[in-house]
Amino acid sequence: MKSIRKPLIINGKQIAAEILEELKLEVAALAGKKLIPGLAVVLVGKDPASEVYVRNKRRTCEELGIKSFSYDLPETCTEKRLMNLIEKLNGDPSVHGILVQMPLPRHINEKRVLEAILPEKDVDGFHPVNVGRLLNGEECFVSCTPAGCHTLLQRSRIKTAGKHVVIVGRSNIVGKPLAALLMQKTADANATVTVCHSGTRNMSKYTREADILIAAMGVPEFIKPRMVREGAVVIDVGVNRIPDPSRKSGTRLVGDVAFAGVSKKVRAITPVPGGVGPMTIAMLMKNTVKAVHLIHAKR
Ligand code: NAP
Repeated sequence: MKSIRKPLIINGKQIAAEILEELKLEVAALAGKKLIPGLAVVLVGKDPASEVYVRNKRRTCEELGIKSFSYDLPETCTEKRLMNLIEKLNGDPSVHGILVQMPLPRHINEKRVLEAILPEKDVDGFHPVNVGRLLNGEECFVSCTPAGCHTLLQRSRIKTAGKHVVIVGRSNIVGKPLAALLMQKTADANATVTVCHSGTRNMSKYTREADILIAAMGVPEFIKPRMVREGAVVIDVGVNRIPDPSRKSGTRLVGDVAFAGVSKKVRAITPVPGGVGPMTIAMLMKNTVKAVHLIHAKR
């Protein structure tokens, strides 16, 4: 009879908490050298989800001893005003990282805004210079969610070298940078990467071949057990709110993977919530501390 082993449920909340504890010590050591990391978090408008993200980022900064510079601009803020602020922050030596919360109001060009941030302060890793360096395998800021997925695998001792990683989703913030990260010729990457998207025909053919399957599509519980190989590792990036009349709120969060069924056949899997989500903020903090090291190494 086939033995049924329980899968490893990769605890992103715990791994993120460990990283934050490590960073706290690093920040304290920097403070001993009179270096206080500073992160400017810019919010434009009153999008409720963005307000929650920004609040969490600012709170985590304070918990770690990172100085948080808050800029809350009205929905009507012009692109010029935002650009002037970025220019000021670029030139401010106490600001090591700049994050402009997306999405921006429609009258502001997001691409122009992201490109205005100095690459050495671009702790979100969205500037084309950082994206290009990532692809080239050079030192750079890696965007936080892909870095979080990679770190989850590493800290769970799941090797990627020589493995077939299949990523479903090719967005600029998750799928593409994650593919670039995992295909690098380094001991902690070196995977064979396949990227699927809405133009992929017969997607199951690819997902079933994955040693490591990463779902980043934004479609609730799309990945079904029949799409996953027995013994695979599954990383679920998706965060989707679906109706649930049994909950007081009337909704609940699910990932892009049908967790109940898929978890029965895999070796390891991330839950939603509590998987990739908490890692994103931890990686932002890590990038901010890294910015301090990089900026001061140059001086
Ligand atoms: P996105 O920009 O909407 O991109 C989704 C990608 O999935 C696209 O490449 C799209 O293909 C592909 N896709 C969508 N439906 C598909 C289908 N039915 N079959 C095949 N491919 C399909 O989304 P995103 O920003 O990358 O985010 C993806 C998910 O991750 C969302 O649930 C988001 O909330 C979550 N997320 C979580 C975190 C976190 O911190 N945990 C951070 C970022 C995002 P095309 O390119 O062909 O359109």
